[in-house]
Amino acid sequence: MSKNYFAGIDVGSTAIKVALVDEHGKMTGEHVTPSGSLFHKNSLAALAQLLAQCGVQREQVRYLIATGYGRKLFKEADDSISEITANAMGAFETGKAYGGVRTIINIGGQDSKAIQIDDSGSVVHFVMNDKCAAGTGRFLDVAARNLELDLEELGEYHFKGSCAPLKINSTCTVFAESEIIGLLANGHGKSEIIAGIHYSIAVRTARLARRVGLEKHVYFDGGPALNKGLVAALQEELGCEIIVPEFPQTTTAFGAAILARNEFMTEVEDAH
Ligand code: ADP
Repeated sequence: MSKNYFAGIDVGSTAIKVALVDEHGKMTGEHVTPSGSLFHKNSLAALAQLLAQCGVQREQVRYLIATGYGRKLFKEADDSISEITANAMGAFETGKAYGGVRTIINIGGQDSKAIQIDDSGSVVHFVMNDKCAAGTGRFLDVAARNLELDLEELGEYHFKGSCAPLKINSTCTVFAESEIIGLLANGHGKSEIIAGIHYSIAVRTARLARRVGLEKHVYFDGGPALNKGLVAALQEELGCEIIVPEFPQTTTAFGAAILARNEFMTEVEDAH
């Protein structure tokens, strides 16, 4: 008999993330691709790519849950849930290996949030910033473009500078872009500018996280958690250690896949 699989698809503002788990809830594979302008088409392609990568047939995916900003566009899903619920479940499951997590900080391409969960992974409360791009991945994207660097390079530049991080005063991405150009024109080095940007995001994020309350352990996910410079700055601003999982960008898709698996198992048990 062929094995059953369960999928979670996180249709984010910037990237589409797909995760596949088996009947035991173990991660089989994950895939990340830019959202682009065709969310639905790119989501279908991302799912097909992951299935091919894992050698799994579409019929073997017994339940699929969509989440994220563009989840309603993915009509093929069996269900759709909020990214808060999916993120909480993904962090809860992943966090078990780290002794459990209670506070989740997520920075996405266009928003940031802090979630407090209880010891069963249920959301106690959350706060969200979706009004201002300055504390989000968008800020990093704009900075990388202006500094002519790949996103992947920002993290290492954070640690390269011999000068103190510069203070980035702009509270808006558009103004920050002009500020970065001004700093470059005044001869400042890329490293001190980048470190300044990381601290500026970290200060905002720490403020958001304190609104839900910091409880051990603190877990940091979303694409920007791949940036080690930002992780260091956030850790400093929070004054506590943070857990960054191996695949921070796919935590929410993984959580949706776990919930898909749980839903299917419950239905099977109810049928007996
Ligand atoms: P969303 O769910 O809103 O689409 P993601 O959690 O996928 O957001 O995060 C997207 C952001 O992650 C991008 O805007 C980018 O700044 C950041 N990012 C993606 N890949 C990397 C990387 N390799 N290193 C650093 N940052 C990254």
